[in-house]
Amino acid sequence: MTTILAFLLDSLILLFSKIVRDLEKLSPEKQREVSTRACPSCGSQYLIKNGSIHNGKPKHQCKSCGHQFIDNPTKTIVLLETKQLIDTLLLERISLRGIARVTGVSWSWLQNYVNQKLSCIPRQISISEKPRGKLIIECDEMWSFVNHKKNELYIWLAIERNTKEIVGCFVGDRTRKSARKLWASLPTIYQQCAFAYTDFWQAYRRVIPPKHHRAVGKETGLTNHIERLNNTFRQRISR
Ligand SMILES: [Zn+2]
Repeated sequence: MTTILAFLLDSLILLFSKIVRDLEKLSPEKQREVSTRACPSCGSQYLIKNGSIHNGKPKHQCKSCGHQFIDNPTKTIVLLETKQLIDTLLLERISLRGIARVTGVSWSWLQNYVNQKLSCIPRQISISEKPRGKLIIECDEMWSFVNHKKNELYIWLAIERNTKEIVGCFVGDRTRKSARKLWASLPTIYQQCAFAYTDFWQAYRRVIPPKHHRAVGKETGLTNHIERLNNTFRQRISR
């Protein structure tokens, strides 16, 4: 019995001296942190500094459970008016970081907000009812890029000349495969009845049935509407 008690006492002393040694290893600054702050997740006081968040507030990390936190977090709810303002600003030629600076929301919040908006947009293009008959469409592809210019992509669009409705859309590279995806995105009635004007890009000739297609130069004015629309997109929503 006495041996067991002595063994337990020994173990306790060992454990205690280990804790003291661990604390001594910490710098005075860290020791101060240990004494005043506690992890909101597990209550441990063994914390280290871990950089700062977007507004400069220092971030702490719990060495026991890995939880990261800041002092006095101020989670503010973005007001409806701010959201409405952001919706309007998103249609202008302003960068996301610019919008975040002006409206005071965090950049990551804004990115999430935009992603959410995007996920709500229906993937299928819905068009108004069309009488059977001759439908004229204009197709064009617009160059753009994501993040940096080497990461280029093309926005393929088809609009109906009379109604100016966008009836087909595909985003991808400039290959024949993408032209085929644009054609496939058209509602059936357009694939059956529409006559398409495009530029001389060879991909169109291989994809659109010859009976339904004519390649024309800019000077003919037969692709004016789609080019006008692409110009508007380039200037208004260049982001
Ligand atoms: Zn913890």
